[in-house]
Amino acid sequence: MARIVQKFGGTSVADIERIRSVAERVKAAADAGDQVCVVLSAMAGTTNRLIEWTREAAKLHDAREYDVVVSAGEQMTVGLLAMVLQDMGVNARSWLGWQVPVRTDGTHGSARIAEIQAAEIVKRLEDGQVAVVAGFQGVSPDGRITTLGRGGSDTSAVALAAALEADRCDIFTDVEGVYTADPRIVTRARKIDRITYEEMLELASQGAKVLQTRSVEIAMNHQVRVQVRSSFSQAPGTLVVDEAEIVEFEVVSGITYSSAEAKVTILAVADRPGVAAAVFGPLSDSNINVDMIVQSASADGRSADITFTVNRGDVDRALTCLEAAREELGHHSVIADDEVVKVSVIGVGMRSHAGVAKRMFTTLAERGINIQAISTSEIKISVLIDAEYTELAVRALHSAYGLDAA
Ligand code: ADP
Ligand code: ASP
Ligand code: MG
Repeated sequence: MARIVQKFGGTSVADIERIRSVAERVKAAADAGDQVCVVLSAMAGTTNRLIEWTREAAKLHDAREYDVVVSAGEQMTVGLLAMVLQDMGVNARSWLGWQVPVRTDGTHGSARIAEIQAAEIVKRLEDGQVAVVAGFQGVSPDGRITTLGRGGSDTSAVALAAALEADRCDIFTDVEGVYTADPRIVTRARKIDRITYEEMLELASQGAKVLQTRSVEIAMNHQVRVQVRSSFSQAPGTLVVDEAEIVEFEVVSGITYSSAEAKVTILAVADRPGVAAAVFGPLSDSNINVDMIVQSASADGRSADITFTVNRGDVDRALTCLEAAREELGHHSVIADDEVVKVSVIGVGMRSHAGVAKRMFTTLAERGINIQAISTSEIKISVLIDAEYTELAVRALHSAYGLDAA
């Protein structure tokens, strides 16, 4: 007998028929004697629709009310699954975030889980009841409903698995596991059997939306055994594990792309000490995250251009910050561009292999793709390119590193 968390994403609960097949899978586990805690997303498309409505209702709306609306999709699916399970003779009940309670900070729209008080759920699981918990939602210190950011049900599931000291956390989704690249773009992508927490963290944070980044952080910190698998088949999925559990590493495990960032270029700033501090200090003070940075000196040696990337949603605030620092910077002008994409190659094997970057740059050069910025970490190289070349670049790199399925 095991204690397991099973999380089902939006496509897996898209209509009553699919909710019924989820119920069958849950029932099979419960019948086998497992203690089952289910975490659900909203039906596919629902959260997007709710977000549109908040925008239509009021352009500058109250973030607390946004969370009340946007968390509603999960309330529907947990109630429906509990009903279907009960109808099948399974002892089950639904739980909303605040009922558990899943305690978060007060950052509405992208709250972080602080603590899950799971004692009551543990008691019910031990009594043989299936718990059906709404993903994506929690409760703030002042008792308001919060949401965990897009894709946040993954994080609810992993955090619950940690709090319940579950033996496993299965993430059921619409693909058979974690692939070497997004299988919707690269048809020859391969399913990865085992991947390290560290690589999964990079894949997720660089754009592979199959797991929310925060869920991988929690899994890593609490050593939760996460398995990503398909809700439409019985195939074994991808196990996310410690490095010690992997015998042989690929040099590159996966390729990702992310359209989450935009590029800002400041033209002709003075080339003297203190300029970078004058640019990035105010951005940091305004809580604007800067990712890639490139500075290029001009021919006369007296001025330079500085290019950096920020989240798309932060571009306007970044431009306002730079405008405020205009006197100090003395720059000519600022250009913002969101027709860019960040493509990354990721792999722990990179630590011990030279030549990974060279292969990336030559592969892109051979396709005539210009690199606008570069950033690296120990197990990742990212480049910023024109968004138009996203698919071409991801496919070319996938082949170049020998990742294509036979
Ligand atoms: P769910 O609704 O089940 O949470 P998501 O849409 O959030 O599902 O995540 C699954 C999707 O992630 C897949 O349909 C796939 O297109 C996308 N994806 C992107 N990169 C990868 C990858 N490397 N491996 C698997 N899926 C990926
Ligand atoms: N329903 C939420 C979303 O669409 C959370 C999730 O699906 O994980 O972002
Ligand atoms: Mg998801």
